[in-house]
Amino acid sequence: MPKSIAIIGGGHGGSQVAASLRDGGYDGALTLVTAETDIPYQRPPLSKAFLKDPKHDLLPLRPASFYEKNSIELRLGARVEAIDLRARRLTLADGGTLAFDALALAPGARPRLPRIEGIGFDGVFALRESADARAIRERLISASDVVVVGGGFIGLEIASTARLLGKTVTVLEAADRLMGRVVAREISAHFLGLHRGWGTDVRLDTAIGRVIGEEGRVAAVETAAGDRIPADMVLIGIGVIPNSEVAGAAGIQVENGIVVDDFMATSVPEIVAFGDAANFHHWDLQRRVRLESVQNAVDQAKTAAATLLGKHEAYRAVPWFWSDQGDVKLQMVGLPFSATRSIRRGSPDSGAFSIFHYAGDRLVAIDSVNRAADHMIGRRLIGAGISPPPEVAADEGADLKAMVAGVSAGH
Ligand SMILES: Cc1cc2nc3c(=O)[nH]c(=O)nc-3n(C[C@H](O)[C@H](O)[C@H](O)COP(=O)(O)OP(=O)(O)OC[C@H]3O[C@@H](n4cnc5c(N)ncnc54)[C@H](O)[C@@H]3O)c2cc1C
Repeated sequence: MPKSIAIIGGGHGGSQVAASLRDGGYDGALTLVTAETDIPYQRPPLSKAFLKDPKHDLLPLRPASFYEKNSIELRLGARVEAIDLRARRLTLADGGTLAFDALALAPGARPRLPRIEGIGFDGVFALRESADARAIRERLISASDVVVVGGGFIGLEIASTARLLGKTVTVLEAADRLMGRVVAREISAHFLGLHRGWGTDVRLDTAIGRVIGEEGRVAAVETAAGDRIPADMVLIGIGVIPNSEVAGAAGIQVENGIVVDDFMATSVPEIVAFGDAANFHHWDLQRRVRLESVQNAVDQAKTAAATLLGKHEAYRAVPWFWSDQGDVKLQMVGLPFSATRSIRRGSPDSGAFSIFHYAGDRLVAIDSVNRAADHMIGRRLIGAGISPPPEVAADEGADLKAMVAGVSAGH
């Protein structure tokens, strides 16, 4: 058992690994080093409730007393600049050092910014941390014309909030549909209708060309095709880059994130990595992926803690994710990338429906719009490897719950 463990990153993964190590009986020294100055908090609300309401505070993942009671030393506002593998020592930005026996890497990711003219003007934002969310919330009060670059989850969540606050909102999406990397076409089309219905000008197949400023402040956005859109605020939401540079510089294998095995072990013994920054081989997809979700960060952190405690439990959790846009809840379970066909349950006209994705006869993922029950059943079906025949999934009268209940009862 390592005598001391250092954790880099105080997000969803970092906080969870600390908790899981103590839960698992680890009684050595435990230090969580994170660049952010807030105690680990829930990130998803930053693009949801937090932006809407100036009174909404950060929601800590665990109270400060939790870390105290469990002898987890929190070093906030401390950025790790280098990992010395031979000396087993971290160097911090303030020049301090921290010795470790084992290391848990959960440095997450940062927003990807397009390399375009004007990206540095005052009024251009990207959202990842509480400081970004506070600055965006503050600026939204006085802004009138908001341009969101990127029609993914975060961009669309911000767009719906900005509309709710009465702003003129334009969304630029380079692809031919919204959230195109992860959801079914029918879901993309449904959300396109919703956002347009809320009064947002959504432009598909439209890439950003440059940001135009006046006296250092953003004044407009020009699309790649040359159209000019007035803007006093621009939000960039075009994806993230894993924070794997510090690990890479130390000699830990990185390739689109920190490379880990089924147990979240990196290429270096006694160093684990997990969450947005970890690149792992997905048992079902049969290829390497990085998943960016709370579920993935939390469940991988549990696997990583088990590994550090000498237990070998391969990561096999069912992925799930959610997004709140306006008053509509989108929930996803499983990964649709291998799907060969999809079946609809419910009707988009009613505002509540799900798309069941099949790879051959096997259910691999479900996207649900305002149908939380389908999502919850989906987690159990996919987790248990049960595939309702597509015609059963499509039949609203069919009781999917019974299929799961049957299995858990041993039938
Ligand atoms: C606005 C927003 C909305 C989201 N909404 C959802 C949602 O609805 N559902 C969902 O499932 N997921 C959502 N996500 C994604 C989810 O928040 C991430 O997948 C999750 O936070 C990943 O956890 P993590 O521990 O890997 O990284 P993070 O939570 O990003 O934590 C990483 C931490 O490491 C710190 N760090 C990085 N480098 C260093 C260093 N060198 N030294 C010290 N500290 C360092 C960072 O400052 C950060 O605090 C959202 C993300 C954002 C930004």
